[in-house]
Amino acid sequence: MLESAKRVAEKKDWIKGATGDWEIILGLEVHAQVLAKSKLFSGASAEFGGEPNDHVSLVDAAMPGMLPVINEFCVEQAVRTGLGLKAQINKRSVFDRKNYFYPDLPQGYQISQYKQPVVGEGSVHVDVDGRSVEVGIERLHLEQDAGKSLHDQHPSMSFVDLNRSGCALMEIVSKPDMRSADEAKAYVTKLRQIMRYLDTCDGNMEQGSLRADVNVSVRRPGAEFGTRCEIKNVNSIRFMGQAIEYEARRQIGILEDGGTIDQETRLFDARKGETRSMRSKEEAHDYRYFPDPDLLPLEIEDAFIGHIKATLPELPDEKIARFIKDYGLSAYDAQVLTSERASADFFEQVAKGRDGKAAANWVINELFGRLNKEGKSVETTPVSAAQLGEIVDLIAAGTISGKIAKDVFEIVWTEGGSPALIVETRGMKQVTDTGAIEKAVDEIIAANPDKVEQVKAKPTMLGWFVGQVMKTTGGKANPQAVSDLLKAKLGI
Ligand code: MN
Repeated sequence: MLESAKRVAEKKDWIKGATGDWEIILGLEVHAQVLAKSKLFSGASAEFGGEPNDHVSLVDAAMPGMLPVINEFCVEQAVRTGLGLKAQINKRSVFDRKNYFYPDLPQGYQISQYKQPVVGEGSVHVDVDGRSVEVGIERLHLEQDAGKSLHDQHPSMSFVDLNRSGCALMEIVSKPDMRSADEAKAYVTKLRQIMRYLDTCDGNMEQGSLRADVNVSVRRPGAEFGTRCEIKNVNSIRFMGQAIEYEARRQIGILEDGGTIDQETRLFDARKGETRSMRSKEEAHDYRYFPDPDLLPLEIEDAFIGHIKATLPELPDEKIARFIKDYGLSAYDAQVLTSERASADFFEQVAKGRDGKAAANWVINELFGRLNKEGKSVETTPVSAAQLGEIVDLIAAGTISGKIAKDVFEIVWTEGGSPALIVETRGMKQVTDTGAIEKAVDEIIAANPDKVEQVKAKPTMLGWFVGQVMKTTGGKANPQAVSDLLKAKLGI
């Protein structure tokens, strides 16, 4: 594994200060809510929303004498995520109490893992501007979420909603391996993608099921690490980028003025686009961590890990490599198609037994383009993989031109139906009858003597003639036949 401090940012990512260049060092702590029906130590529903305090068991409310019972499925999800991060699975891990006071934490401590987490070192591969960056994972541990304090509902009162209290979180801690806001954004995007492939977290940042705390420090390129500040709970990837840029500039400003950075926890104010101090950073010993006496150490058997390993889906990196190799796709297209598991599956249904590149073009340019425009997804697409495949077949067989195919796509999108039948009943078949094409070609040549002179000197003008013939035939002429015939007639 990469020795974190040694990696120096690309020169283009250096920040110019008044006294020279600076490098940003970033490490992330991502809290990902485990996709599970019930909470980490109770049977209450872990579903988002609901009436306040509807999903609260006596354990979640910390009633005296209640005992936590580990939810095996949550452990399975953490191990699955660990395997997806190519990480070490620790067969023995320990739950600790992290002690602090807050109104939304009725126990007075959070059950978390400290020295012995369930998942150890791993790595995540990200592509940033065509560059490959390996981000080291330090650990992944399981812990409970806290409830929510609501202060803004009423001017003079605060409320506590414990629905989220006790939900299982995976805290994924990276090594300080990122060197720019773009790398951090790519990393969170990739983590989210991997967990969505694995079905271990829905990655919904708006609902808070994925939250990132960002550790930011700056240094002279290649020098020792500087003092870091932690920006808490950034709830969108875009805001994270803004928070990093702002915080790095703030620290550079202080250092260049001869000041020092205070290690502290800061909040990002999305409205003002700035970070501000929340509290001075607490150290681990402030929390008085100790093993929770209510819970035994977590022991995981090889068979448990083996079973999860055997059911892992193909992950994004492997899928991209296979799409490039098997379907002859560009890396870019392969990346677009695999961004979600459902879109990759959809593409494969269209591509099966067909030309991969043609299928990719139709899925990406026509279908995805249209879905985005209408706020739909492959789950709600009105054009099925079978219908899109049929359109690709009609083009490949020369029955319709690419241009007419777009009209067919439009009809299928709005009205549904079989593309082949639509082409047949609406007279959209491509004209391959040379007699009809020849007539159109002759007319265009006769009507444009000046252009005929020009094309003889400049053969690239042929496209204009092809376009004209396609126009007069309502797009139904076979473009190849038109081009061949034009070349013969014009003697080029
Ligand atoms: Mn945490």
